[in-house]
Amino acid sequence: MDLEKVLEENGVILKGHFLLTSGLHSDIYFEKFRLLEKPYLVRSLIMQVKQKLNKLNFNVVIGPLTGGALVAFAVGEVLQKLAFYAEKTDEGFVLGRGFQLKDSDRVLVVDDVLTTGGSLEKVKNLILSHGAAVVGYFVLIDRRPQDRELNFPILSLVRKKAKVYTPEDCPLCKQGIPLVRRGSK
Ligand SMILES: [Zn+2]
Repeated sequence: MDLEKVLEENGVILKGHFLLTSGLHSDIYFEKFRLLEKPYLVRSLIMQVKQKLNKLNFNVVIGPLTGGALVAFAVGEVLQKLAFYAEKTDEGFVLGRGFQLKDSDRVLVVDDVLTTGGSLEKVKNLILSHGAAVVGYFVLIDRRPQDRELNFPILSLVRKKAKVYTPEDCPLCKQGIPLVRRGSK
């Protein structure tokens, strides 16, 4: 299965000229909810990396709300593990809802799209602060512009280096291609 093609056909990978939430421009936009709205597709994609994930030998999977939590649920379902959710508050990420981590827990941190790794890093620190171990990261789409180091093993379904530009240096602007605003809101 050509994952990239599947994602394009489902409207997950969009090509053009996009204004990102960060204010930067990009030639690619990932409409992650076109994937997350199809749990059967998410499930079949996770089945493809099931063995690799199993080798990480974790017993809990944690993702940040909203998208990361949906991925955590799907991974937990396929691999028969506990799935917790990290919530963003004014004080940073917290584990609410009575979720309990033990010193012996081995946690896989997941998210939908990896752009800079900032959220994963914060969730990792949250888990470490609870005394549990983090075994690795898993994301559906890894769109880091270059090989931005994360100092941590990362597994993804699709690795797509997206080009990002500041508005001043954007070649797509210079070509006069209309800019499309995309975002969660
Ligand atoms: Zn531009």
